[in-house]
Amino acid sequence: MTLSLSSVAKTYGDGTRALNPTDLEINPGEIISLLGPSGCGKTTLLRLIAGLEVPDNGANIRFGDEDVTRLPVEKRNVGMVFQSYALFPNMSVRDNIGYGLKMQRLPRAEIQSRVDEVIALCRLEPYANRAITALSGGQRQRVALARAFAPRPRLMLLDEPLSALDAALRLELRDELAALLRQFGTTVIFVTHDQDEALAIADRVAVMEGGKIRQIGTPEELYRNPQSAFVAEFVGHAMPLSGEIRQQTLCLEGGELPLPDHAGGGSVYVRAEDLRADPTGPLQAKVETVTFLGTHYRLGLTGLTGQRMFALHHGASSPAIGDNLRLSIAPDALICLPHS
Ligand code: ATP
Repeated sequence: MTLSLSSVAKTYGDGTRALNPTDLEINPGEIISLLGPSGCGKTTLLRLIAGLEVPDNGANIRFGDEDVTRLPVEKRNVGMVFQSYALFPNMSVRDNIGYGLKMQRLPRAEIQSRVDEVIALCRLEPYANRAITALSGGQRQRVALARAFAPRPRLMLLDEPLSALDAALRLELRDELAALLRQFGTTVIFVTHDQDEALAIADRVAVMEGGKIRQIGTPEELYRNPQSAFVAEFVGHAMPLSGEIRQQTLCLEGGELPLPDHAGGGSVYVRAEDLRADPTGPLQAKVETVTFLGTHYRLGLTGLTGQRMFALHHGASSPAIGDNLRLSIAPDALICLPHS
């Protein structure tokens, strides 16, 4: 089922414009992430699609050929998983998963077979008869997903489903969730403020800021070809190389850098991993901080631009604080943005 949004906007009762008119088309089976900082309108957009909020006049939301703009939430056949999971703590895993099917008054045998199917898919067999209170955070997350999938929704909406978990488990479940969502084959819209999570799970990411989708694309497109400073910084942690451009040369406090032909005179960005220590490099900076991160060191640098910059250093030992470091940047590692 294709999901189409046209001019979908939301102004809350107190006058807050949470979402500007938004157009979006999502293909059948696609996993889309809504990514953006707190307050950018991602939960509002998700709730409008779910039918939990009514959009401003002029909006149109279609599930395939069906206009659902004014259809109440219970008639939309969407599955939802929220950060709190909202499971029934005293019911067993099996009863939690079967709850929605029972409400739909499906025959017992049908409920049984659908519950068994999602239990197997989510690898919950060993816990099927346990109470929710006897499960770990990661197991609860899988039950919440299984419960949402059991009624075979035409669309799955997930709002920060991993945010209740600790960092290590979050990372482990991130990859598991991506695989599981693809197995279900349903169209998924997934809200997160975590860039790595969005890039790891989604087929396409819609980057939001200030109630607008700023850019939508595959993780690779967004990372390699950001169209604005906001996307470059938010998705790729890129840092501005603030300086003056004179005849295809970027003049920085710490040296001069020839620009590739496609630079076009807009602003230039670089990522920490592309700023390399190189004794013959054209740039120079002073090491101000050194942080050991296991696989590499993160260096805080001054004197390259007006702001502090960061570089990643791979090697058995790191430069020392106070060292003057020579640096280079490969021409294809420069992110050149159009004039905004
Ligand atoms: P977060 O990541 O913090 O959940 P978000 O991107 O999901 O943020 P929304 O919850 O969609 O953002 O909120 C967008 C804007 O709308 C915010 O400025 C918020 O304060 C406002 N807002 C949200 N719900 C309401 C409401 N019921 N009434 C008035 N304003 C609201």
